[in-house]
Amino acid sequence: MEANTHLASTILEKQFANNFLCALLVSNRRREIIFTNRYLQTELGWDEAQLLGKDINVLLTRASRIFCDSYLFPIISIEGRCEETQITLVKGNGERLPAVAYVRSTPDQTGLLYWTIVPSINRDKLYDELISTRAHLEAQAEILNSLATIDELTGLKNRRELMRLSEVLLSQTIRSAHELALLFIDIDFFKAINDKHGHLFGDHILQQLGRILNESGRSSDIIGRYGGEEFIIVIPDADRAAAQCCAQRIHDLARSINFDNHHLTVSIGISQTKATKDIQLSHLVASADNALYKAKASGRDCTIFAD
Ligand code: GH3
Ligand code: MG
Ligand code: MG
Repeated sequence: MEANTHLASTILEKQFANNFLCALLVSNRRREIIFTNRYLQTELGWDEAQLLGKDINVLLTRASRIFCDSYLFPIISIEGRCEETQITLVKGNGERLPAVAYVRSTPDQTGLLYWTIVPSINRDKLYDELISTRAHLEAQAEILNSLATIDELTGLKNRRELMRLSEVLLSQTIRSAHELALLFIDIDFFKAINDKHGHLFGDHILQQLGRILNESGRSSDIIGRYGGEEFIIVIPDADRAAAQCCAQRIHDLARSINFDNHHLTVSIGISQTKATKDIQLSHLVASADNALYKAKASGRDCTIFAD
């Protein structure tokens, strides 16, 4: 009577198991499959006879076998279970099927493992979508970063980025007790150029000068558009002679921009200093601006050093 009840309940359990929308398996200590539900036939195309008594490996790709050997089985032997594990199944027709496995042993020393395997066909698709979304977001972040740091007209650093990088350079220079020069460059009579040739032409001149300044310096120089027709170049490790030399090169390059039988000229104010702790960027900018003002007052197209 008891045996019949047990048989009946076993058959009933098998029927129940057949109704699950996932693969249910039991493997023994030798990793042989001793139970499968119908899902493996209807959805994965395996006959029960092809699986019973076979190594669980028949259902796994090479990579998943290695993964199970090196991770899943050791984890189960330690923790008694391994959940939400991504594996790839091999279907009866050889196709691959991404799936998630939940595997547990029971504490009864039988060595049986109970496998619940849920196909996740969309897993790789979702992963691909995630990757492409991330790439898209990274590209967007790069655009945002460039909008926040680059001056649209000249392609040089904008004022905020110019000041941020100059602060970094100044603190490095203070730490190493080196020298530094800040050149404040302003186009002469730019308003007249705009008035005579139009604002678009003025823009074009700004772009040309921006390109020339960018090409004139070293990669360690920080070059940016401070505003309007004003540019700043911060040159690390520049003594007075080096700063003078850079300024002269800039005067010459500006003059290479010709229009209307006229050479473009700029005036330059320079703060050049050995960086000490009490030096602040705002002071360097202000004194270079002050020197620039003197350069304008003394006829333009020249460089004046701040005191
Ligand atoms: P100075 O020799 O004393 O420097 O004279 P300036 O005419 O160059 O100086 P001022 O400050 O009188 O004029 C600067 C002009 O720059 C005025 C403004 O319209 C123009 N400007 C500022 N930003 C831009 C810009 O993005 N594009 C153009 N085309 N013009 C600009
Ligand atoms: Mg100006
Ligand atoms: Mg000007």
